[in-house]
Amino acid sequence: MAVGTLTIDLGALVANYRALSRLTSGEAAAVVKADGYGLGAAPVSTALAKSGVNRFFVATAEEGADLRQTLGNAPEINIFSGHMAGDTALIREANLTPMLNAPEQLKRHLALPDHPYGIQVNSGMNRLGFQPEDWAANRDHAQDATLIMSHLACADEPDHPQNAAQLSQFRAMTDGIKTPKSLAATGGTLLGADYHFDLIRPGVGLYGGLPFAQAQPVVRLSLPVIQIRTVQPSETVGYAAAYTAKSPRQIATVSAGYADGLIRAMSARATLFHNDTPCPLIGRVSMDLLTVDVTDCAQPPEALDILGPRQTVDQLADAAGTIGYEILTSLGPRYKRVVLP
Ligand SMILES: *Cc1c(COP(=O)(O)O)cnc(C)c1O
Repeated sequence: MAVGTLTIDLGALVANYRALSRLTSGEAAAVVKADGYGLGAAPVSTALAKSGVNRFFVATAEEGADLRQTLGNAPEINIFSGHMAGDTALIREANLTPMLNAPEQLKRHLALPDHPYGIQVNSGMNRLGFQPEDWAANRDHAQDATLIMSHLACADEPDHPQNAAQLSQFRAMTDGIKTPKSLAATGGTLLGADYHFDLIRPGVGLYGGLPFAQAQPVVRLSLPVIQIRTVQPSETVGYAAAYTAKSPRQIATVSAGYADGLIRAMSARATLFHNDTPCPLIGRVSMDLLTVDVTDCAQPPEALDILGPRQTVDQLADAAGTIGYEILTSLGPRYKRVVLP
């Protein structure tokens, strides 16, 4: 078999959820947008729902409708993008709760009689949410909302002054309103109780990513070796002859590439592991293949790990100049997915 095995540990995911929810005295929802950060919204949300999660967030109404099929009627499914033109039928039929972002969305939504909604306000990130002046003109609609929320731009940097600035802006926009409130994703949860309000809504920390440094790893990605050859000094490997051997090297050709989310920026920078032995990725990443120096391995490896106990999504992301979120959500459809309970 020449496909990699992506193992998703739902026990670790649930443990991460519990660890994050213990940090707040309020409720903890779960963010499962982008197909559960690439790990599968269905298995991820089913495991979380069984562990007692009854509020989920996704980005779009389409994601929400799929999630409704998976989870049945009980959980509340919230939509960050709000109520867009064309979403009304999905919102009604799948009983989704849009987080309304602007007066036009509010107007569109109120045409749907007696349908739940939340409100998102812009506290300074300038990405989604009511502008302060628009919110001031519409504050009366807070009392019927299920939730009033905002999002922090810099929560992964605890010392960033924008955190406190957004906190006070969120307070100014919501003071005196009795509706449940939410400001914190994973990063905001770690900033402390001032940021928690009634509901935290972690995403990446559930999946084992920073800034939740205590997270248990949730993914392991093991890639099969197709062949191993000896490359002599001055011989080159791969496209553009980008790697030149300086001494005799054992080079393994591994089945996975940029079409599987192992982006070209990893070329000559990432490391794979055979048990505990680090094996450097050499030369260019190609569409379906990686070339890896396995000279230091005691035995010729049959497979190499690129994610797992020896390397987190964030460590691999560092090597590629990106973030763990992007590594997770890029993991491709060709892997054999094994879900551990
Ligand atoms: C993605 C997202 C979250 C979850 O963020 P993490 O950093 O993954 O915890 C929470 N709220 C909003 C508005 C988001 O877009």
